[in-house]
Amino acid sequence: KQQGKNCFRVWSPDGAAAPPSRQQLLGEALGQALAAGQLRVVYQPQVTLVGGGCMGMEALLRWTHPTLGVVSPVEFIPLAEAQGEIIAIGEWVLRQACAQLSSWRTVQPGLRVSVNLSAVQLADDAALDGLCAVLAASGLPCGAVELELTESLLVDRSEAMLSRMRRLRAAGFGLAIDDFGVGYSSLAYLDSFPITTLKIDRAFVQPLLQGGHSTAIARAIVAIGVALKVDVVAEGIETPLQADVLRELGCLLGQGYLFAKPLEEAAALAWVQAHGDE
Ligand code: C2E
Ligand code: CA
Ligand code: CA
Ligand code: CA
Repeated sequence: KQQGKNCFRVWSPDGAAAPPSRQQLLGEALGQALAAGQLRVVYQPQVTLVGGGCMGMEALLRWTHPTLGVVSPVEFIPLAEAQGEIIAIGEWVLRQACAQLSSWRTVQPGLRVSVNLSAVQLADDAALDGLCAVLAASGLPCGAVELELTESLLVDRSEAMLSRMRRLRAAGFGLAIDDFGVGYSSLAYLDSFPITTLKIDRAFVQPLLQGGHSTAIARAIVAIGVALKVDVVAEGIETPLQADVLRELGCLLGQGYLFAKPLEEAAALAWVQAHGDE
Protein backbone atom coordinates (compact mmCIF):
# COMPACT_ATOMS: atom_id res chain seq x y z
CA LYS A 1 0.00 0.00 0.00
CA GLN A 2 2.86 2.39 0.83
CA GLN A 3 4.07 2.07 -2.76
CA GLY A 4 0.90 3.62 -4.12
CA LYS A 5 -2.18 2.19 -5.70
CA ASN A 6 -0.73 1.45 -9.13
CA CYS A 7 1.75 -0.94 -7.64
CA PHE A 8 1.28 -4.44 -6.35
CA ARG A 9 3.53 -7.19 -5.02
CA VAL A 10 2.91 -10.91 -5.00
CA TRP A 11 2.85 -12.56 -1.60
CA SER A 12 4.44 -15.97 -1.37
CA PRO A 13 4.10 -18.44 1.52
CA ASP A 14 7.81 -18.63 2.40
CA GLY A 15 7.85 -14.91 3.15
CA ALA A 16 9.99 -13.90 0.17
CA ALA A 17 8.32 -11.82 -2.54
CA ALA A 18 7.94 -13.86 -5.73
CA PRO A 19 9.42 -12.15 -8.80
CA PRO A 20 6.69 -10.39 -10.76
CA SER A 21 5.46 -12.17 -13.87
CA ARG A 22 6.11 -10.75 -17.34
CA GLN A 23 2.44 -9.76 -17.50
CA GLN A 24 2.75 -7.79 -14.24
CA LEU A 25 5.95 -6.09 -15.37
CA LEU A 26 4.41 -5.10 -18.69
CA GLY A 27 1.18 -4.01 -17.07
CA GLU A 28 2.98 -1.69 -14.67
CA ALA A 29 5.32 -0.32 -17.33
CA LEU A 30 2.56 0.32 -19.85
CA GLY A 31 1.16 3.23 -17.85
CA GLN A 32 4.42 5.14 -18.38
CA ALA A 33 5.26 3.92 -21.87
CA LEU A 34 3.62 6.75 -23.81
CA ALA A 35 4.99 9.56 -21.60
CA ALA A 36 8.43 7.93 -21.57
CA GLY A 37 8.58 7.97 -25.37
CA GLN A 38 8.77 4.16 -25.64
CA LEU A 39 5.95 3.90 -28.18
CA ARG A 40 6.27 4.56 -31.87
CA VAL A 41 4.21 3.94 -34.95
CA VAL A 42 5.43 2.11 -38.05
CA TYR A 43 3.66 2.11 -41.40
CA GLN A 44 3.02 -0.75 -43.82
CA PRO A 45 2.28 0.17 -47.44
CA GLN A 46 -0.97 -0.89 -49.09
CA VAL A 47 -0.53 -1.17 -52.85
CA THR A 48 -2.58 -1.61 -55.99
CA LEU A 49 -2.12 -5.22 -57.13
CA VAL A 50 -2.24 -4.19 -60.76
CA GLY A 51 0.20 -1.27 -60.94
CA GLY A 52 2.08 -1.78 -57.67
CA GLY A 53 1.70 1.90 -56.73
CA CYS A 54 1.23 3.00 -53.14
CA MET A 55 -2.41 3.53 -52.20
CA GLY A 56 -2.01 4.05 -48.47
CA MET A 57 -0.37 2.85 -45.29
CA GLU A 58 -1.54 0.96 -42.20
CA ALA A 59 -0.31 2.39 -38.90
CA LEU A 60 1.02 -0.30 -36.53
CA LEU A 61 2.09 0.33 -32.96
CA ARG A 62 5.48 -0.65 -31.52
CA TRP A 63 6.66 -0.63 -27.90
CA THR A 64 10.30 -0.89 -26.86
CA HIS A 65 10.45 -1.69 -23.14
CA PRO A 66 13.70 -0.52 -21.49
CA THR A 67 14.70 -4.00 -20.27
CA LEU A 68 12.38 -6.45 -22.03
CA GLY A 69 13.03 -5.04 -25.50
CA VAL A 70 10.45 -4.91 -28.28
CA VAL A 71 7.04 -6.12 -27.11
CA SER A 72 4.52 -7.23 -29.76
CA PRO A 73 1.21 -5.37 -30.00
CA VAL A 74 -0.44 -8.79 -29.88
CA GLU A 75 0.87 -8.98 -26.31
CA PHE A 76 0.42 -5.41 -25.06
CA ILE A 77 -2.77 -4.21 -26.78
CA PRO A 78 -4.93 -6.59 -24.69
CA LEU A 79 -3.19 -5.26 -21.55
CA ALA A 80 -3.76 -1.66 -22.65
CA GLU A 81 -7.41 -2.53 -23.25
CA ALA A 82 -7.82 -4.15 -19.85
CA GLN A 83 -6.08 -1.28 -18.03
CA GLY A 84 -7.67 1.53 -20.02
CA GLU A 85 -4.51 3.04 -21.54
CA ILE A 86 -5.74 2.08 -25.01
CA ILE A 87 -7.89 5.24 -25.07
CA ALA A 88 -4.96 7.65 -24.75
CA ILE A 89 -2.61 5.45 -26.79
CA GLY A 90 -5.14 4.99 -29.59
CA GLU A 91 -5.73 8.74 -29.85
CA TRP A 92 -1.96 9.32 -29.95
CA VAL A 93 -1.56 6.75 -32.76
CA LEU A 94 -4.24 8.54 -34.77
CA ARG A 95 -2.52 11.90 -34.21
CA GLN A 96 0.82 10.47 -35.41
CA ALA A 97 -0.80 8.83 -38.43
CA CYS A 98 -2.62 12.04 -39.44
CA ALA A 99 0.63 14.03 -39.22
CA GLN A 100 2.50 11.49 -41.36
CA LEU A 101 -0.32 11.32 -43.89
CA SER A 102 -0.30 15.10 -44.26
CA SER A 103 3.39 14.93 -45.09
CA TRP A 104 2.99 12.01 -47.55
CA ARG A 105 0.14 13.83 -49.29
CA THR A 106 2.47 16.65 -50.26
CA VAL A 107 4.19 13.96 -52.40
CA GLN A 108 1.09 11.96 -53.39
CA PRO A 109 -2.20 13.76 -52.73
CA GLY A 110 -4.55 10.76 -52.88
CA LEU A 111 -2.90 8.66 -50.17
CA ARG A 112 -4.81 7.22 -47.21
CA VAL A 113 -3.87 5.91 -43.81
CA SER A 114 -5.53 3.11 -41.81
CA VAL A 115 -5.49 3.04 -38.03
CA ASN A 116 -6.55 0.08 -35.91
CA LEU A 117 -9.42 0.77 -33.51
CA SER A 118 -9.94 -1.31 -30.39
CA ALA A 119 -13.38 -2.48 -29.28
CA VAL A 120 -12.72 -0.61 -26.03
CA GLN A 121 -12.37 2.67 -27.94
CA LEU A 122 -15.48 1.99 -29.99
CA ALA A 123 -17.50 1.40 -26.81
CA ASP A 124 -16.46 4.74 -25.29
CA ASP A 125 -18.22 7.88 -26.54
CA ALA A 126 -15.63 10.23 -25.02
CA ALA A 127 -12.85 8.29 -26.77
CA LEU A 128 -14.69 8.67 -30.07
CA ASP A 129 -15.09 12.42 -29.43
CA GLY A 130 -11.31 12.56 -29.05
CA LEU A 131 -10.73 10.71 -32.34
CA CYS A 132 -13.17 12.94 -34.23
CA ALA A 133 -11.45 16.04 -32.81
CA VAL A 134 -8.03 14.78 -33.95
CA LEU A 135 -9.34 14.18 -37.47
CA ALA A 136 -11.04 17.59 -37.63
CA ALA A 137 -7.87 19.34 -36.41
CA SER A 138 -5.77 17.54 -39.05
CA GLY A 139 -7.70 19.17 -41.89
CA LEU A 140 -7.53 15.90 -43.85
CA PRO A 141 -10.45 15.28 -46.21
CA CYS A 142 -13.24 12.76 -45.80
CA GLY A 143 -12.10 9.17 -46.43
CA ALA A 144 -8.37 9.89 -46.14
CA VAL A 145 -8.24 8.24 -42.73
CA GLU A 146 -9.74 4.82 -42.24
CA LEU A 147 -10.36 3.04 -38.94
CA GLU A 148 -9.96 -0.76 -38.93
CA LEU A 149 -12.40 -2.69 -36.77
CA THR A 150 -12.04 -6.41 -36.26
CA GLU A 151 -14.83 -8.56 -37.52
CA SER A 152 -15.60 -9.81 -34.01
CA LEU A 153 -17.06 -6.35 -33.24
CA LEU A 154 -19.86 -7.06 -35.69
CA VAL A 155 -21.41 -9.64 -33.40
CA ASP A 156 -22.74 -6.61 -31.52
CA ARG A 157 -25.61 -5.53 -33.71
CA SER A 158 -27.06 -3.07 -31.23
CA GLU A 159 -28.40 0.26 -32.40
CA ALA A 160 -25.74 1.90 -30.18
CA MET A 161 -22.95 0.18 -32.15
CA LEU A 162 -24.47 1.16 -35.47
CA SER A 163 -24.93 4.76 -34.43
CA ARG A 164 -21.30 4.99 -33.28
CA MET A 165 -20.15 3.66 -36.63
CA ARG A 166 -22.38 6.14 -38.45
CA ARG A 167 -21.01 8.91 -36.29
CA LEU A 168 -17.42 8.02 -37.25
CA ARG A 169 -18.41 7.98 -40.91
CA ALA A 170 -20.12 11.36 -40.56
CA ALA A 171 -16.94 12.74 -38.98
CA GLY A 172 -15.10 11.73 -42.18
CA PHE A 173 -13.50 8.39 -41.25
CA GLY A 174 -13.59 5.41 -43.59
CA LEU A 175 -14.35 2.12 -41.82
CA ALA A 176 -12.63 -1.15 -42.65
CA ILE A 177 -13.52 -4.61 -41.39
CA ASP A 178 -10.19 -6.19 -40.45
CA ASP A 179 -9.44 -9.93 -40.51
CA PHE A 180 -12.60 -10.55 -42.52
CA GLY A 181 -13.60 -14.19 -42.85
CA VAL A 182 -12.23 -15.49 -39.56
CA GLY A 183 -15.07 -14.18 -37.39
CA TYR A 184 -18.71 -14.98 -37.59
CA SER A 185 -20.38 -11.94 -39.08
CA SER A 186 -23.65 -12.54 -40.82
CA LEU A 187 -23.73 -11.35 -44.40
CA ALA A 188 -27.22 -9.96 -43.89
CA TYR A 189 -25.98 -7.68 -41.12
CA LEU A 190 -22.75 -6.78 -42.88
CA ASP A 191 -24.89 -4.90 -45.39
CA SER A 192 -26.30 -2.68 -42.64
CA PHE A 193 -22.88 -1.53 -41.39
CA PRO A 194 -21.59 1.70 -42.95
CA ILE A 195 -18.24 0.24 -44.02
CA THR A 196 -15.87 1.26 -46.80
CA THR A 197 -13.31 -1.61 -46.91
CA LEU A 198 -13.05 -5.36 -46.26
CA LYS A 199 -9.63 -6.81 -45.43
CA ILE A 200 -9.12 -10.46 -46.33
CA ASP A 201 -7.32 -12.10 -43.41
CA ARG A 202 -3.90 -13.55 -44.10
CA ALA A 203 -5.23 -16.93 -42.94
CA PHE A 204 -6.85 -17.16 -46.42
CA VAL A 205 -4.09 -15.42 -48.33
CA GLN A 206 -1.12 -17.51 -47.26
CA PRO A 207 -2.53 -20.95 -48.16
CA LEU A 208 -3.56 -19.82 -51.68
CA LEU A 209 -2.39 -22.44 -54.21
CA GLN A 210 -1.73 -24.98 -51.47
CA GLY A 211 -4.97 -26.81 -52.19
CA GLY A 212 -7.85 -26.50 -49.75
CA HIS A 213 -10.58 -23.92 -50.00
CA SER A 214 -8.76 -20.62 -49.54
CA THR A 215 -9.02 -19.67 -53.22
CA ALA A 216 -12.78 -20.20 -53.13
CA ILE A 217 -13.05 -18.21 -49.90
CA ALA A 218 -10.93 -15.35 -51.24
CA ARG A 219 -13.06 -15.31 -54.41
CA ALA A 220 -16.22 -15.16 -52.29
CA ILE A 221 -14.89 -12.25 -50.21
CA VAL A 222 -14.01 -10.32 -53.38
CA ALA A 223 -17.58 -10.95 -54.60
CA ILE A 224 -19.00 -9.68 -51.29
CA GLY A 225 -16.86 -6.55 -51.65
CA VAL A 226 -18.22 -5.98 -55.17
CA ALA A 227 -21.80 -6.52 -53.96
CA LEU A 228 -21.38 -4.10 -51.07
CA LYS A 229 -19.42 -1.63 -53.26
CA VAL A 230 -16.51 -1.48 -50.83
CA ASP A 231 -12.76 -1.82 -51.36
CA VAL A 232 -11.18 -5.22 -50.72
CA VAL A 233 -7.59 -5.36 -49.40
CA ALA A 234 -5.81 -8.72 -49.12
CA GLU A 235 -3.34 -8.80 -46.23
CA GLY A 236 -0.31 -10.94 -45.51
CA ILE A 237 0.78 -11.34 -49.16
CA GLU A 238 4.26 -12.87 -49.08
CA THR A 239 4.81 -14.40 -52.51
CA PRO A 240 4.36 -13.25 -56.13
CA LEU A 241 2.12 -16.29 -56.71
CA GLN A 242 -0.28 -15.24 -53.96
CA ALA A 243 -0.43 -11.77 -55.54
CA ASP A 244 -1.10 -13.33 -58.98
CA VAL A 245 -4.00 -15.43 -57.71
CA LEU A 246 -5.57 -12.47 -55.90
CA ARG A 247 -5.20 -10.28 -58.99
CA GLU A 248 -6.92 -12.94 -61.09
CA LEU A 249 -9.73 -13.11 -58.54
CA GLY A 250 -10.25 -9.37 -59.06
CA CYS A 251 -8.79 -8.24 -55.76
CA LEU A 252 -7.41 -4.75 -56.48
CA LEU A 253 -5.48 -3.94 -53.31
CA GLY A 254 -2.90 -5.75 -51.20
CA GLN A 255 -0.55 -5.51 -48.28
CA GLY A 256 2.23 -7.82 -47.11
CA TYR A 257 5.93 -8.55 -46.83
CA LEU A 258 6.11 -9.11 -50.62
CA PHE A 259 5.70 -5.35 -51.06
CA ALA A 260 7.08 -4.01 -47.78
CA LYS A 261 7.35 -4.77 -44.09
CA PRO A 262 6.12 -2.11 -41.65
CA LEU A 263 8.46 0.90 -42.06
CA GLU A 264 9.78 3.54 -39.69
CA GLU A 265 8.59 7.12 -40.40
CA ALA A 266 11.56 8.15 -42.55
CA ALA A 267 11.52 4.91 -44.56
CA ALA A 268 7.75 5.22 -45.08
CA LEU A 269 8.18 8.70 -46.57
CA ALA A 270 10.98 7.42 -48.81
CA TRP A 271 8.71 4.54 -49.90
CA VAL A 272 5.94 6.97 -50.85
CA GLN A 273 8.44 9.02 -52.85
CA ALA A 274 9.73 5.91 -54.66
CA HIS A 275 6.28 4.42 -55.42
CA GLY A 276 4.57 7.53 -56.72
CA ASP A 277 2.59 7.52 -59.94
CA GLU A 278 2.62 3.88 -61.02
P1 C2E B 1 -3.51 -6.53 -37.86
O1 C2E B 1 -4.28 -5.26 -37.78
O2 C2E B 1 -4.17 -7.69 -38.51
O3 C2E B 1 -2.13 -6.13 -38.56
C1 C2E B 1 -1.47 -6.95 -39.48
C2 C2E B 1 -0.32 -7.67 -38.83
O4 C2E B 1 0.28 -8.55 -39.79
C3 C2E B 1 0.81 -6.73 -38.38
O5 C2E B 1 1.40 -7.31 -37.21
C4 C2E B 1 1.77 -6.79 -39.56
O6 C2E B 1 3.10 -6.44 -39.22
C5 C2E B 1 1.65 -8.25 -39.95
N1 C2E B 1 1.98 -8.50 -41.34
C6 C2E B 1 1.92 -7.64 -42.38
N2 C2E B 1 2.27 -8.23 -43.54
C7 C2E B 1 2.58 -9.52 -43.24
C8 C2E B 1 3.01 -10.65 -44.03
O7 C2E B 1 3.19 -10.59 -45.24
N3 C2E B 1 3.21 -11.82 -43.35
C9 C2E B 1 3.01 -11.92 -42.02
N4 C2E B 1 3.23 -13.11 -41.44
N5 C2E B 1 2.59 -10.89 -41.24
C10 C2E B 1 2.37 -9.70 -41.85
P2 C2E B 1 1.75 -6.44 -35.94
O8 C2E B 1 2.31 -5.12 -36.37
O9 C2E B 1 2.55 -7.31 -35.03
O10 C2E B 1 0.33 -6.14 -35.29
C11 C2E B 1 -0.42 -7.19 -34.74
C12 C2E B 1 -1.81 -6.74 -34.36
O11 C2E B 1 -1.77 -5.79 -33.29
C13 C2E B 1 -2.54 -6.03 -35.49
O12 C2E B 1 -3.05 -6.99 -36.37
C14 C2E B 1 -3.59 -5.26 -34.71
O13 C2E B 1 -4.69 -6.11 -34.42
C15 C2E B 1 -2.86 -4.93 -33.41
N6 C2E B 1 -2.41 -3.53 -33.47
C16 C2E B 1 -1.26 -3.01 -33.98
N7 C2E B 1 -1.21 -1.68 -33.84
C17 C2E B 1 -2.35 -1.32 -33.21
C18 C2E B 1 -2.91 -0.06 -32.77
O14 C2E B 1 -2.36 1.03 -32.96
N8 C2E B 1 -4.12 -0.13 -32.12
C19 C2E B 1 -4.79 -1.30 -31.93
N9 C2E B 1 -5.98 -1.27 -31.29
N10 C2E B 1 -4.31 -2.48 -32.34
C20 C2E B 1 -3.10 -2.50 -32.97
CA1 CA C 1 -5.36 -3.97 -39.08
CA1 CA D 1 -5.66 -7.72 -40.17
CA1 CA E 1 -4.84 -9.95 -37.57
